[in-house]
Amino acid sequence: MRRILVAGNWKMNLLADAGTSLSQALAAKYPIAAVEVLICPAFPYLSGVAATIRGSAVQLGAQNLYFSPQGAFTGEVSGDMLKDVGCGWVLVGHSERRQFFGEQDELLAKKVAAGLQHGLKVVLCVGELLTERQSGQMEAVLKKQMAGLALVSAEQMANVVIAYEPVWAIGTGVTASTEQAQQAHAFLRGQLTSRYGDAVSATTRILYGGSVKADNALELLSQPDVDGALVGGASLKADSFIAIVEAGIQAMSHKR
Ligand code: PEP
Repeated sequence: MRRILVAGNWKMNLLADAGTSLSQALAAKYPIAAVEVLICPAFPYLSGVAATIRGSAVQLGAQNLYFSPQGAFTGEVSGDMLKDVGCGWVLVGHSERRQFFGEQDELLAKKVAAGLQHGLKVVLCVGELLTERQSGQMEAVLKKQMAGLALVSAEQMANVVIAYEPVWAIGTGVTASTEQAQQAHAFLRGQLTSRYGDAVSATTRILYGGSVKADNALELLSQPDVDGALVGGASLKADSFIAIVEAGIQAMSHKR
């Protein structure tokens, strides 16, 4: 049984006060939780949010890392540092990192490996552009992006989650249909089987991301191969994020 994970990617949003209020509300709502709940604030606020959610079921992640543990890499943040400020998780390969910062699979593979080496759980994000989907390349693109796992052993996969985020659905209000999401997730699970075998494939969680909202979350999360959500816009307000977590709890009880 794969435990549903609902993750909020705050991106470059929320100053200290807003982030504190939001994390306080989530920590108060989830002293314990039937699903996993993760929030990923911007770097400057990680320590503060770590203090706010301490003792609750809400977990902390960063949105990015650099692969070296320390050194002359101005402006970068290592996995060691993330662990040190209380992160348990890190996102790698978000489409905005790929699109605006030129991050490619080879670099992302090093980032995934570094996160794992430093004891972080890693969410590796993959997803096709609209043009790639329209020209029938979705599967080829996803297969290529799974090279982000190039340096990950089968044992380490226990600490890896894949997030399928079709780029055309991120921040657009256009959500993949449940069929499109399920189809892509099943394809990705097949890729995990080819790389690691049935046992790893059956236990690795694959999240859906792309305009997940309170009103579409339950349907998406109820799909057999959808094991959670990576949420951008709707994770910035307590009400909407909590509604998605609650949909996760409901979907989880159907899947039992
Ligand atoms: C994201 O950026 O990971 C995301 C899914 O954003 P949104 O929910 O706003 O589409």
